[in-house]
Amino acid sequence: MVLGAGLLLAVLLLVGLGSLIVRAVKKSKQASALETSAATAVATLSAVTDAPLPTALPTPEPTLVPATPAPAIQAEWYEARTAQLYKNLTTYGNYRDAADVYLALEGMQIDPKGKMLAITFDDGPYPPITGQILDVLEANHARATFFVKGAYIDANQDLIRRELGLGCEIGNHTMNHEDLEKLSPEERRASVGGVNDKLYQLFGYRIHLLRPPYIKYGDKGTDTRNDIVAMAKAYELAIVNHTRSSHDSHDDYTAQMMIDRTLAEKDELGRGLNGSILLFHDKYAKTVEAMKVIIPALQQRGYQLVTVSELLRCSKEGLNWGWIYSKAD
Ligand SMILES: [Zn+2]
Repeated sequence: MVLGAGLLLAVLLLVGLGSLIVRAVKKSKQASALETSAATAVATLSAVTDAPLPTALPTPEPTLVPATPAPAIQAEWYEARTAQLYKNLTTYGNYRDAADVYLALEGMQIDPKGKMLAITFDDGPYPPITGQILDVLEANHARATFFVKGAYIDANQDLIRRELGLGCEIGNHTMNHEDLEKLSPEERRASVGGVNDKLYQLFGYRIHLLRPPYIKYGDKGTDTRNDIVAMAKAYELAIVNHTRSSHDSHDDYTAQMMIDRTLAEKDELGRGLNGSILLFHDKYAKTVEAMKVIIPALQQRGYQLVTVSELLRCSKEGLNWGWIYSKAD
């Protein structure tokens, strides 16, 4: 009986203490509400990114990470994305003061119902081409997604910093441009997980997109495909194919041919530009020349040049780990 009363008293004390803490937290929340929402969002973000580094990547367990349906752009994701952009701009961006950062952020706001597409570059960072492409993006306040090769990261950290500082997205293109179909499940995880770990360790950045080299991820129904999809789910990656290839890797394809092909309203399959994912490589001089025409031309036609994650988040299907995308639907 005495023990029961003692327990009850302890519980009451704990509840009282709890409500005091809640009130204190509420008060501090009200105070912080006076600050800018971006600053608040950054605080939320750093709480997430300050989490201790995982010692090892999780073993793929597809059932642990169910695909999350995202019918439209989610408010909480949008807030987190703004926080991520704010962090990248302040950490890696070349801005003089906070006002510049807010101006840049404003320019990155997306109209989720507006026309948009995603320009992507594979195989970099590759100096001096990557820097020249970033010059074009910066001059036009445009963003793109860079699917980087892990082996190139260490020597080109300044380029990755600049990509992040311009609000671009970084995707995974494996460690050494391996054909994932030819690797064992363990080798696949070392190659893909290695790039994720590198970006997180160097920049505190979490990659959520995988573009398998040669767009090879196993035929439907095969063990290879099932394993690659299971790995993507476990690593929280969406697999990104493309809608249109610029053919910049073809020797006989000129900058003008790339421009004409990219700017055509319809592709060979009759698909329009809206919602498309365009494939380029940041390793050819002609790609830089083509970009100088393509980027302003697309903007003039009203297309928002967004990253792949943004494009997919704004689509009906949303961004789902382990899904394979060639277009936003
Ligand atoms: Zn490639």
